[in-house]
Amino acid sequence: MGEIDADDIPRELLAILLRVTWSILLAEQTLTIDVRGLTTHMPPRMVDNRSRESRSRLMSRVRGKDTKPEMVVRRLAHRLGYRFRLHRRDLPGRPDLVFPGRKKVIFVHGCYWHRHSCKLATTPKSNVEFWLTKFRENTRRDKRNLAALHKQGWDCMVLWQCEIERGEGLDDRLTSFLGGGR
Ligand SMILES: [Zn+2]
Repeated sequence: MGEIDADDIPRELLAILLRVTWSILLAEQTLTIDVRGLTTHMPPRMVDNRSRESRSRLMSRVRGKDTKPEMVVRRLAHRLGYRFRLHRRDLPGRPDLVFPGRKKVIFVHGCYWHRHSCKLATTPKSNVEFWLTKFRENTRRDKRNLAALHKQGWDCMVLWQCEIERGEGLDDRLTSFLGGGR
């Protein structure tokens, strides 16, 4: 703290300063911390022991990489140079990505809620009837929305969560659906 006497610093400010100092030291993996004459030695292992998982979660938040299927598709479409709108309320089913100039929409469906024929579409063990009804409503609504969109002249593509997570050929599927001339 240099020449400043810690006793002259208001308690609240000191608390903030200490917190900030802590995070900087942690980030830089500094081993020795000297606060108000009290020296603490931190072995490097202690710093490293911060769970790898929590650190990588932190890092992924820092990088702003959202891995939700919809975000993956958005990023990809953006990278491929397509312009799109999101969730247009005036369209049936509020499609996830709307390409107005091409009159095309993309739905990004979660396999569970929209009942994809894959292993992610499990059924709860209790209240089976309730869930089956709910799922049936979901799939009927999806069909209705697609039909309404077709009727209005929109081309629709449904991308499933499991396909996006596998990621294979996603570029090709987007470009062959959306066409060139971005
Ligand atoms: Zn699936």
